[in-house]
Amino acid sequence: MSCAPGDANRAALGVSWHEAASRLNVKIHRRKIMLSYSRRNFALMLGGMSLSHWVPASTLESSPISVQSGRSLPIAVQRFHERFMRRAIKVSAKNPAYPFGAVIVNTSTGEVLAEGVNTDSKNPTWHGEIDAINAYIDKHGNTGWSNVTLYSTGEPCAMCMAAIVWTGISRVVWASSIQAIRNAGIGQIDIPAVEVAERAREFYRPKALIGGVLADQTDLIFRNRKK
Ligand SMILES: [Zn+2]
Repeated sequence: MSCAPGDANRAALGVSWHEAASRLNVKIHRRKIMLSYSRRNFALMLGGMSLSHWVPASTLESSPISVQSGRSLPIAVQRFHERFMRRAIKVSAKNPAYPFGAVIVNTSTGEVLAEGVNTDSKNPTWHGEIDAINAYIDKHGNTGWSNVTLYSTGEPCAMCMAAIVWTGISRVVWASSIQAIRNAGIGQIDIPAVEVAERAREFYRPKALIGGVLADQTDLIFRNRKK
C-alpha cells in the first residue's frame, strides 16, 4: 500500500488535532469540576451550616444522577430537611385519603415560598407537587427555580418529576418512596424519579435528589390513610 505525499502531513496533523482535543477536554473537564464545586459551595451556605455532604458527586456532568438517602446525611442536614418535610406533612393532612403534600423553599434563606396538596378529586393531574409549582408561579412568577428546593411527602411520580424537570427545580427531597406508596395500596406509575431525571440529562442536572426524609412517619401515614 502506498502513501500519497500529503498523507504523512495529514497523519501528523491528525495526531496534533488529537493532542489538542485531549488538552481541551482536560481543560473543559477541570472547568466543569470547578464550576460544580463553586456552585455547591455557594448553594450550601444555609444558615452557616456545613452542608458539604448535601450535594452528591453526581452533579459532575459525566456521572450518573443518583438519589441520596436522607439517613446518610450529616445530622444537622437531616434536621434541616426534616423541618420542611414536617411542613409538607402538615399540608398533606388537608387530603386525608391521599396525603401528598409539597412545599417549595428558598434554598438560601429557608423561606417557604409555596405549598401544594393533592386535589385530584377536582383534577386528576393536580398532585401535591403540581399544586405547589402552580402556587409558586402565581406568587413568584416563572423564575428562580435554580434556588429552590421542593419537598414532597412522596417520591414524585413520573408526571410530577417531568414537571419538576421542565421547571428546572434543582433540588428535590421526598419522604416515602414510590414502592412504599404502592405497598400502602396507592397505585403508582412504577418509574423512579431518578430515571425521569436521568432521561432528561441532556438539559436537566439536579443538584440534589434526596429520598427517605421522615419516611418512617409518612409510610405510616400512607398506610393508615382514610379510605
Ligand atoms: Zn405526581
